Amino acid sequence: MDRLAGKTAIITGGAVGIGRACAERMAGEGAKVAIFDVLADEGRALADALTEAGHEAAFWPVDVTDEAAVKTAIDETAARFGGLNVLVNNAGISGAPKPTDQVTEAEWDRVQAVNVKGVFFGTKHAIPHLRAAGGGSIVNLSSIAGLIGVGGVSPYHASKGAVRLMTKNDAITYAPERIRVNSIHPGYIWTPMVENHLRATSDDLEAAKAAAGSVHPLGHMGEPDDIAWAVVWLASDEAKFVTGAEIAIDGGYTA
Ligand code: NAD
Repeated sequence: MDRLAGKTAIITGGAVGIGRACAERMAGEGAKVAIFDVLADEGRALADALTEAGHEAAFWPVDVTDEAAVKTAIDETAARFGGLNVLVNNAGISGAPKPTDQVTEAEWDRVQAVNVKGVFFGTKHAIPHLRAAGGGSIVNLSSIAGLIGVGGVSPYHASKGAVRLMTKNDAITYAPERIRVNSIHPGYIWTPMVENHLRATSDDLEAAKAAAGSVHPLGHMGEPDDIAWAVVWLASDEAKFVTGAEIAIDGGYTA
């Protein structure tokens, strides 16, 4: 109930999917949560619902590829909630599934902009506030595609591999300031991203769901909460000796 009491957390891409579950679970553990997303209706509705449930929550319309908007929203979050302790760099896009020789430069650049530059901007502008708080936790959402080849989405693989090693660099850089930085590598988690991906690649959604689930040794896809609970732990002081870690939450996919 209170594992994150007194902490303020920003969740990018927090309106739906994994980010939404993170916002709900972190608020439930006592965190003040700031939701950054391009989906204004969903983000506002979630912040309102959390507030009505007695939590402290707010929404900022932010595109993580816009450095000025990211900095402004982070600074406003810290001012409104009295500092910043946790950043969850969750916003991400998969890009259209296609072989590398058919990927356009614009498609490549957009995936890198959201998935890599977005993590850079968030981290860059959160660090001064985490430093001012005497330490903090950054959780970066990578993927199994940042650990092994899955196939069919090379811009996504490149971006998630980059996030994995940015995480390790920043873990070492900021460890002396007690700012911990870790990456999570989900297998298939049932969210709008995966639903859209499966609809784009199959005419039979139920069959595609079952097939995507069956590639995990545990036999099914994960749920957003499977990731959110790990984020709660990494954000909390229970994980005070954990930095630079890459945590696969993938039903055994990469085992
Ligand atoms: P999702 O598409 O369901 O939700 C992503 C959220 O990010 C949405 O609310 C979207 O509006 C937001 N977003 C996208 N671009 C943005 C931008 N430029 N600025 C701000 N917000 C933006 O995705 P998800 O499945 O919940 O994935 C969350 C993260 O987890 C992503 O980084 C994704 O790559 C990663 N991941 C997901 C899975 C999975 O199976 N779902 C697996 C591995 C990794």
